[in-house]
Amino acid sequence: MLLVLWGFVAYWSWSQRKKILVSNTVILEQLTTAAEEQTLRLFRHAETSLTVSNHWLAEHPHLDPGDTPSFIALVDRLRHMSDGMLEIRMVTRSGGLHYIPRRGPRPLADVSDRDYVKAQTRMETRGFFIGNPVISRVSGKWGIPVSIPVDKGGGDVGVLFAAIELDRITKTFEAERIKPSGSVAILRADGTFLFRVPQEDHVIGLNIADTPSFKENYALSLRGIFRSSSQFVDGKERMVSFQRLRDYPLIVIVTAGIDDLLAPWRRETATLVAIAGLVSVAIGLLALILLRAMKAEEKAQKATERARREAELILTTAGEGICGIDTAGNVTFMNPAARAMLGWEHDNPIGLNLHAANHHSRPDGSTYPGEDCPVSRTLGDGETREVLGETFWRTNGAGFPVEFIVTGILDEGTVKGAVLVFRDISDRLASEQALTLQATELSRSNADLEQFAYVASHDLREPLRQVASFVSLLERRYGPTLDGDARDYITYARDGAKRMDRLIIDLLEFSRIGHRSLPVEAVNMGDVIDEAIANLRTAIVESGAQVERSSGMPVLRLVRDDMVRLFQNLIGNALKYSHPERTPIVRVAARKDADGWVVSVADNGLGIDPQFSERIFGIFQRLHTRDKFEGTGIGLAIVKKIVERADGRVWVDSVPGEGSTFHVFLPA
Ligand code: ADP
Repeated sequence: MLLVLWGFVAYWSWSQRKKILVSNTVILEQLTTAAEEQTLRLFRHAETSLTVSNHWLAEHPHLDPGDTPSFIALVDRLRHMSDGMLEIRMVTRSGGLHYIPRRGPRPLADVSDRDYVKAQTRMETRGFFIGNPVISRVSGKWGIPVSIPVDKGGGDVGVLFAAIELDRITKTFEAERIKPSGSVAILRADGTFLFRVPQEDHVIGLNIADTPSFKENYALSLRGIFRSSSQFVDGKERMVSFQRLRDYPLIVIVTAGIDDLLAPWRRETATLVAIAGLVSVAIGLLALILLRAMKAEEKAQKATERARREAELILTTAGEGICGIDTAGNVTFMNPAARAMLGWEHDNPIGLNLHAANHHSRPDGSTYPGEDCPVSRTLGDGETREVLGETFWRTNGAGFPVEFIVTGILDEGTVKGAVLVFRDISDRLASEQALTLQATELSRSNADLEQFAYVASHDLREPLRQVASFVSLLERRYGPTLDGDARDYITYARDGAKRMDRLIIDLLEFSRIGHRSLPVEAVNMGDVIDEAIANLRTAIVESGAQVERSSGMPVLRLVRDDMVRLFQNLIGNALKYSHPERTPIVRVAARKDADGWVVSVADNGLGIDPQFSERIFGIFQRLHTRDKFEGTGIGLAIVKKIVERADGRVWVDSVPGEGSTFHVFLPA
């Protein structure tokens, strides 16, 4: 567009320039013709005037022309006819200049040296002669002298001449020249400038016969037009038109400054270029905006394409089967996972009815009517449905359990189709089944084990009691007869039996937890803890301990006996593992937790190394030897079992040497 615009501007400018130059050439030629006419008239008038005057002299040989009124009147008339441009004067044979009428006996000046006088003395130039422009020795004005010889009459007058005053011609031609730098000039055929407007004094009388302009143009043809940079004037380039006069050895030259001619063209061109420039800038800006918009569009397109590819990638790589259907339930899209699951790897399901193709029967093989299918219900109401345990059928007839979500595709409130995302849950069902089986197996074997422990501990006590009583009997009956060693052995045997009995009792207790079907009831924890403290009264008195229970204890639904046992064990341990140098202080407190209560039993006893804080809750796990502290290592195991039965949690915080705090979390 810009190329066309600027091409047009260039063409218009070029053609306009050409047109202006051509039209000005015509004008210049017309002006030249007019100037030639005027010049011709001027010189013809001058020649006629001189010839008429000469005739008068010839016809009146005895009269003195300078003093004869009829001649004076004639000369006056002739001047009048030339608009005062021509002043006829006389030159005596000795070269003295006289005006008409004569202004005295003495000549006004000596003009014998002037070319127009000299020319009449030589045969080859005698006749009508156009002289070099000169400054009048009388009036001091520039003029072109034209002269003729006087052959008959006139007394001593040898030459008649008329000076064409340059000032006067200037006025005539000034009106005609193309301003400001155009000019009108008269050149004599020998190359001498006679006249020029605007007047340049140094040009007048200048001979240009040797210049290329003269040689190539004025000397060669009668008329013509050419371009020249006027070297004698101001160096400006001009269009020069010239014409040789028909009857006189004169050339009229009319010029016009190229710059002047082209000024309007320049203005118009500048305006046009400015407009074209503005249009270009506007187009440029428009193009820039367009380009930006296109780039943004391209970017958006790329982003859309990327999003589309990503979406496609997600759909194709998804592990779930994804299937799009239209309002009639026909498949519009199916991702590779769905194709693999439904058996459409080699055939195309697009356009087929999904229900008829893959969801036609129930797990038992009976027909599944389309209207009962959750998918068709979603197509009806657009609701999202999550379905578990339906069966999809592969194209080869094999069924598999699925879990699916069907979501309606809504467009301004109307259902346009649905998307079905489904998953083959055969593996999950299988592993769930295996897990249930395992759990059942585990609880059965647990029950067996507990039964065994219970029976074993219950039945073991009987023979143990027998061993103990016979050892006692042995001691009582034969004690005095036995030596020291034998008595010691008996003591060891009795101690062992006692300890074993303790162990069995504890074990029995451990295995009993949860076995006796004791009721779950609302239990006031304050009462439970008070009861546990009361049960430990002897130990408290013996150790001189200080046991405190804070108020604000919760009421929770639990097995009451288990709770008494739990806190009896914890408080009992706090008394047992006290610091030898401190009065034992035991504090029992409760605080509300997110979804239950935490009851804490804090002591200032020996403390527990944190690395054993898990281990102590294991069965038979002890940190102290029997010779320091009595015990079986079952107490905390019982605590843990009770807490876990109640869906709670137990843990210990302790600083060895400073004390321990056992926390029991019980759900509300
Ligand atoms: P037992 O008291 O019969 O040894 P437990 O199961 O009640 O068995 O405790 C296991 C071990 O944990 C104890 O042997 C003892 O070393 C440690 N223990 C329990 N309670 C405390 C306590 N309050 N302070 C220090 N140590 C404790």
